Amino acid sequence: MNAKTIAIANQKGGVGKTTTCANLGIGLALEGKKVLLIDTDPQGSLSISLGYAQPDKLDTTLATVMGKVITDTPLQHKEGILSHHEGVDLMPANIELSGMEVSLVNAMSRETVLKQYLDTVKKQYDFILLDCMPSLGMLTVNALAASDSVIIPVQAQYLPAKGLEQLLQTIGKVRRQINPKLKIDGILLTMVDSRTNFAKDICTLLRETYGSSMKIFSTDIPHSVRAAEISAEGKSIFSHDPKGKVADGYRDLTKEVLKIEKLRQKHKSDIGR
Ligand code: ATP
Ligand code: MG
Repeated sequence: MNAKTIAIANQKGGVGKTTTCANLGIGLALEGKKVLLIDTDPQGSLSISLGYAQPDKLDTTLATVMGKVITDTPLQHKEGILSHHEGVDLMPANIELSGMEVSLVNAMSRETVLKQYLDTVKKQYDFILLDCMPSLGMLTVNALAASDSVIIPVQAQYLPAKGLEQLLQTIGKVRRQINPKLKIDGILLTMVDSRTNFAKDICTLLRETYGSSMKIFSTDIPHSVRAAEISAEGKSIFSHDPKGKVADGYRDLTKEVLKIEKLRQKHKSDIGR
């Protein structure tokens, strides 16, 4: 096993990164995959949404293990990794991670500290999903440097045009300078309100602008108050509202992600022949 690592990234805030990370992760676990979720946001939203309401009280977080990588201190087996009752593991984060972002500036191989950490746990998982913070700073660059691919959630309410360009530039730069194998799995439309034509227009626009250069997931995640409720509950949409449209959406997304991975594996074995 060598986990496929996916960054869920967009520097625009509130587009559904954390919600996607948690529910895609648990969706994959429900399909029998071993999944590690990594909270790379000092706000700790992913940790909170998985039930750790006060991440600042956790002793060991991503900041701790990245600190150990920087100082070359050996890590214990599964050090700091929490297990969620819906079958995923979590490396939580809290405000200490913003201090880490500062100390990264002076660290050796500062862009690959997170990758070095993931290399120590990769063999134990099928998938590692990284919940990125809403910025293109050092932590997001670390996440991109450590990933095989990126999923870009885009909120269907707003025209993403300019922000997306910046993200694509950063991805391109990471690919050229640090991680040549980094791929874009696709753009995921989130919070789609099917009662308006606006979402459809944005979808059409995105396909026209980016459709030739990258995949736009055929699954859209619908807008629903049920989705907004889950982070307070500390559980996934699959247990909060299993028959709802958002659960359906994340189930379909899970299938699409598994399909991409299957094709990648096949491609790899074809090349190996
Ligand atoms: P940030 O940039 O702050 O990290 P984010 O991109 O991680 O934000 P989320 O935290 O996942 O975005 O979602 C933003 C808000 O929208 C949250 O309050 C969340 O509960 C809500 N939300 C997420 N998905 C949906 C949905 N499908 N329908 C309705 N509300 C949603
Ligand atoms: Mg978030």
